[in-house]
Amino acid sequence: MSERALTIAIDGPAASGKGTLARRLAAHFGLPHLDTGLLYRATACALLDEGRPLDDIPAAVAAARGLALADFDEARLRTRELGEAASVVAAIPDVRAALIDLQRGFAARPEGAVLDGRDIGTVICPAAPVKIFVTASAETRAQRRALELAARGEKVDYASILADVRQRDERDSARSAAPLKIASDAVRLDTTDLDIEAAFEAARDIVLDKLTLAARSD
Ligand code: C5P
Repeated sequence: MSERALTIAIDGPAASGKGTLARRLAAHFGLPHLDTGLLYRATACALLDEGRPLDDIPAAVAAARGLALADFDEARLRTRELGEAASVVAAIPDVRAALIDLQRGFAARPEGAVLDGRDIGTVICPAAPVKIFVTASAETRAQRRALELAARGEKVDYASILADVRQRDERDSARSAAPLKIASDAVRLDTTDLDIEAAFEAARDIVLDKLTLAARSD
């Protein structure tokens, strides 16, 4: 990573709005974007396609190592079923290790990059100059996820989506390998009461503030 690279690390729980924010920030600052959740979703998808259980560690590691960013079928990977399956394979330390180089390679582009996930600021890009931890109440996140899935034609039941969100929070936060947690130098952005535009403006201002501070200390 060059000294001037603008690496933006966005972390947060399921359906916090971090993906939308990451995409908007990438477009605004002219940077490439990687949604790292897709890597775990694609790993789980490969296992299910092969008819293997999600706890088959050698097969999960082989699937993770075989991933190529260009091959992702996002419409297929963004289902609710694969979100749940992804959080199971994501708790396997060897799977996480197998995906580190791919993510760091993406983050090392000379101009910088925006990556979003659960451990970007803590593990993948600990030296990123900008880290944002996006959060929102579980109820708000479940409502957003329900709308998103309904828009995609999936059948939704708010109560079971809220239960999924809570279960995923628990699994992602309690696992021993790279648990979801805020980096000590990240800025927390709570989007519970913000619409997409207001959340984007707040995130953009966090980036601009960091850039101003960095320029002053040069
Ligand atoms: O963000 P998304 O919902 O697509 O992520 C699916 C699952 O992948 C998460 O619940 C989490 O378990 C896992 N994940 C992760 N680390 C990342 C990105 C996603 O553990 N950097």
